[in-house]
Amino acid sequence: MKLTHMQGQHQTQSPMTSAHIAQTMTLLYMTSTELLQTIDVELSKNPALELVNERRCPMCGRKLPPEGPCPICSQPRTMDPDETIVFISPRDDFYTYSGKGSSYSDDFPEDPFSSIDLDLPTYVLRQVAPELEPDEQQIAAMILTNLNEDGFLDIEVHEICRFHHATPKQVETVLKKIQRCDPLGVSARNIKEALLAQVDFLSESTNIPEYTREAIEQELDILLKNKFSDVAKKLNASTQKIKLVSEFIGDNLNPFPARASWGNYRQPNDNTPEVFHQPDVLIYYLNNKPGNPLVIEIITPSRGTLRINPMFRKALKEQAEENQEEWKKDMDKASLLIKCIQQRNNTMRQMMERLVEIQKSFIIHGDIYLEPLTRAQIAEELDVHESTISRAVANKTVQLPNKKIIPMSKFFDRSLAVRAIMRHIIENERHAMNDTEIRKHLETQGISIARRTVAKYRAMEGILPAHMRRVEKFATA
Ligand SMILES: [Zn+2]
Repeated sequence: MKLTHMQGQHQTQSPMTSAHIAQTMTLLYMTSTELLQTIDVELSKNPALELVNERRCPMCGRKLPPEGPCPICSQPRTMDPDETIVFISPRDDFYTYSGKGSSYSDDFPEDPFSSIDLDLPTYVLRQVAPELEPDEQQIAAMILTNLNEDGFLDIEVHEICRFHHATPKQVETVLKKIQRCDPLGVSARNIKEALLAQVDFLSESTNIPEYTREAIEQELDILLKNKFSDVAKKLNASTQKIKLVSEFIGDNLNPFPARASWGNYRQPNDNTPEVFHQPDVLIYYLNNKPGNPLVIEIITPSRGTLRINPMFRKALKEQAEENQEEWKKDMDKASLLIKCIQQRNNTMRQMMERLVEIQKSFIIHGDIYLEPLTRAQIAEELDVHESTISRAVANKTVQLPNKKIIPMSKFFDRSLAVRAIMRHIIENERHAMNDTEIRKHLETQGISIARRTVAKYRAMEGILPAHMRRVEKFATA
């Protein structure tokens, strides 16, 4: 099995590292706005953490002027238009981007794929909707409205069957489709099912350690108690291999599908005031001149620099033995947060640099030029686990040079280019073509997809079927 970047650290550092990985993963999942809130909460309750009123570059550590990005890291080394400039940008004017009345708010279109202001059922429904057959939609709706805050299904399958006159097999099929959505494993009935759904999904693109499936399926209870040799005996495997399994689960799987995002940081169904989408990443031409190198600015929220309070560190040494434990915990937590934020920044930087390199034509020329790309490919190139990339992409938005803000997941949308071509065909049709005709047309351009897929993409683009377009577009002809 390939050792990822983070797992590598797991082996060399102190026992704190599993907390380190978990927190980095959680922070990666957050948008810049959520990260800022998390920092604020930690500042308010942890006396060891301190925000000093000086700005430092998150990349090189230089002291920065009161405004603007790092003058060194944000400058090109050459004026080669193929070079990309990537830097982390500490934003202290963060709040001026969002909220009502800001000059930005008007430009922010409602983005159907961002989860920022969606509750869990809506967020999942939007992903799964294109996969559903018409008779599955009602079943999916019932499942999604019966999730508990951990993302587990809170209703019996037979109740769903009875209500919708469906067979258990039909309900299971819908459950399987939903469980492949983000957050992976959502709508599982228990921890075991959630973990297995994640293993199935990941195993399509990643090497999963031997015995992972068996250990979860048959011996989860003992595995969770870390009794590795017991599990090993039962499965007839070596303890070493079971340890690898446990490590893999700890690093990559989430027993409570909804907790990483909704449980801790979002209350489902609460009426949070409208949130405008502050882009997490800005991409623009250097000096805003087309043809110049592209600049990738990754926003990290900051109103100063986080550090360990030196007074606290000093006071800790003077504490009586019995108090030290508690104080030391605060200090560990503070330094962990600082480290994990750095790690988040690094991952975002590496990922964006590579993403922009691959999708440069798309960024400059539009949808038709989107390269087919998977999260697994990027993960492999950067030598991190796919779930790291999934989290880094999740919920994030990117502002393109044309000022349009898109969900970062669009970089991985394999249907986008085809949909753009299809849209173009329909815009230029001389009569209202039905889906079979559109399919044939696409085929002449080297794209062969099923008629059903044409219908699906057409629906995603919000284009009416032929008989209705005939009325709309060609009524007078
Ligand atoms: Zn710098």
